[in-house]
Amino acid sequence: MGTSYRVVVVEELWGPSRDKLQQTIRAGLDGVDRKMSTWRSDSEVSAFNRLATTDWFPVSPETAEVVLAALEISRATNGAFDITVAPLVELWEFGPDPHEREVPDSEQIAEVLMRVGWQTVEVRTEPPALRKKISSLTIDLSAIAKGFAVDLVAEDLARAGIEHCLVEIGGEVRVAGRRLDGHPWRIGVEPPTSDSTLKEVLELTSGALATSGDYRNYFVAGAKRYSHVIDPRTGAPVDDAPASVSVVAPTCMEADALATAFMVMGSEAGMAFSVERHLSVRFLSRAGVGLHRVTTDSFEMLVVRR
Ligand code: FAD
Repeated sequence: MGTSYRVVVVEELWGPSRDKLQQTIRAGLDGVDRKMSTWRSDSEVSAFNRLATTDWFPVSPETAEVVLAALEISRATNGAFDITVAPLVELWEFGPDPHEREVPDSEQIAEVLMRVGWQTVEVRTEPPALRKKISSLTIDLSAIAKGFAVDLVAEDLARAGIEHCLVEIGGEVRVAGRRLDGHPWRIGVEPPTSDSTLKEVLELTSGALATSGDYRNYFVAGAKRYSHVIDPRTGAPVDDAPASVSVVAPTCMEADALATAFMVMGSEAGMAFSVERHLSVRFLSRAGVGLHRVTTDSFEMLVVRR
């Protein structure tokens, strides 16, 4: 997935059982990549994107599950989260095939926006399949599939009888149980600046933490900073996006997608949404040279070091 992963298991595992677990983990991750990557042309999602019809297209149960969850989050966030942003991601050169970065003009954006909209993709689970309502529609699961992959590995470990573990892919984390020393898992949240003293540490014994930010994948044109998170309603990178949003949720898929949605919604709307739904969330916004920090009370309770 163009990133690294780490699995920590508190269990004495020897020879064959350790090898078997490693094989299960690799097979799970390879499966997600093979099905959901837009970075490889032979994935299910790439094949669906190439399809020029509005017929049902059979996919794996996993891809259908992720698309279904994505559409639910689109509905809940009024379209701030939208897996049909793919052509906009490409237009703004954040996709798998980046050329020289140029700011597109409003006509180009308007033309591409006609092919965007989460209501134009349909999913069914029995049998699992996707359908486009507009034949030129394409999807991009980058903001949710990494979280799904974390959940998949965590669930595989639970099925193998492992009660204490940490699974992390590219910074998205899910934990179960405790560390070897009996303490809760401690997770550092990367700061959106190079100042590592700003790293916060959270303690968790269950659930997932995902962070989305404007600090790793962005470009600057003129005096403006363009984040890789696109507002599907304007067709442009989010203006004044938070520097970073961290979400704690029961599943990593939910945390991953909501972190991206909140980048689009901003801290005010994102906080209102989180308080209403009892989510644990932290927003960091750029304020001059510093950072403005807003959290829900439940997030604050998890922080052990600031
Ligand atoms: P997030 O905030 O989680 O997601 C941002 C991304 O979501 C954007 O880059 C865009 O693609 C999309 N997006 C933007 N706006 C929205 C919106 N409003 N709603 C929904 N989605 C939006 N990278 C590589 O370099 N090489 C690879 O081979 C590769 N393979 C991958 C395979 C898979 C299965 C997945 C899931 C990702 C892969 N990636 C690959 C992508 C890489 O890991 C991404 O950078 C990552 O998934 C984006 O995660 P993030 O945490 O950086 O940002």
